Amino acid sequence: MIDVPFSEPSLGEEEEAAVVEVMRSGWISLGPRTRRFEEEFAAFVGTEHAVALNSCTAALHLSLVAMGIGPGDEVVTTPYTFCSTVSSVLHVGARPVLVDVDPATMNLDPAAVEAAITPRTAAVLAVHVAGHPADVVRLQEICDRHGVPLIEDCAHALPASEAGRTAGTWGEAGAFSFYATKNLTTGDGGMFVTSSPELAERVRRLAAHGLDRDAWRRYGPGGHWRYDVMEAGFKYHMTDLAAAIGLVQLRKQGTFLARRTAVASAYREALAGLAGDGILELPPEHPGHAWHLFIVKVDGRDDLVERLAAQGIGSSVHFIPVHLHRAYADLGYRPGAFPAAEGAFRRALSLPLHNGMSPSTAAHVASVLSGILAGRSTRAA
Ligand SMILES: *Cc1c(COP(=O)(O)O)cnc(C)c1O
Repeated sequence: MIDVPFSEPSLGEEEEAAVVEVMRSGWISLGPRTRRFEEEFAAFVGTEHAVALNSCTAALHLSLVAMGIGPGDEVVTTPYTFCSTVSSVLHVGARPVLVDVDPATMNLDPAAVEAAITPRTAAVLAVHVAGHPADVVRLQEICDRHGVPLIEDCAHALPASEAGRTAGTWGEAGAFSFYATKNLTTGDGGMFVTSSPELAERVRRLAAHGLDRDAWRRYGPGGHWRYDVMEAGFKYHMTDLAAAIGLVQLRKQGTFLARRTAVASAYREALAGLAGDGILELPPEHPGHAWHLFIVKVDGRDDLVERLAAQGIGSSVHFIPVHLHRAYADLGYRPGAFPAAEGAFRRALSLPLHNGMSPSTAAHVASVLSGILAGRSTRAA
């Protein structure tokens, strides 16, 4: 029996009412609510354009397509991420060039990025792991110097900030996820953001089959049945059902971030002793942390996951470095290729953290974890 889930969505009566309203409106797919969600989301992160999609993976894929990245190109990215970051590069026919991470944050190491840049480099794709901003100031400086765009995988980073700017606005493009476990959920969904009107327009078109006008503009007020297909596109856009949930969730982001930050502080306080004794490593702090995940590092992680579950506590592991998965074996990176990423993975344990969690639940999780670790050192003595 799991009493403390690793994650669970925070959806209430307002989200329910918003979905029912869309159902009764007679227009459930891409339409006016999606447009409003895009506008409010762009304002929230402080950028010009947002295009609502059905996943972050779709947003990553379309950023690469819209930038004209394809066969012969290289995209420098991280092994410490979810598979779709790397799969999206493969889907446009480009080559993912993986480089190692900072062992503390598990974010891209800017020096390793710079060393990997070649004349074939078409983009740098950074992830803000756990909601801790990547070293975007140095990454952007490197990208500018080499004339390549920076793309941000912001799946964990709503709303991370650094140097007075929000995640998704440092690079040429940003991709957010609204999957069930993420800081804002629409069940599934994603958002592409950019300050470039051209990129936004291309992504918008590609997300709806490449049509010159979407269904809302054909069947909506003043629409006309005729359309032209401008380029072979994809079916990646959001629906108004999802956008209605997203609009409510967006307005709760301030409260959600405050709660996750309080949970992170409670963990930090309760685990300070173990950290001081060198038994456990706490995640580094950052004033603009979005606290999507609370990743501690500890020896014997696999065993801890099971023992926490036996005491009713869900946990998870972020991430299995992508080059260790079978699908990417052809990229040519052997186990041992990325010592920092692999070393972090061996000891990484994600503790429960979600929008509905309280600091007292974090204190409970921390005391169960401390008990298990104390039992271990007693046995070892
Ligand atoms: C969740 C996640 C994704 C994929 O998001 P989807 O919306 O499920 O496509 C991409 N990158 C990272 C780092 C993620 O955690």
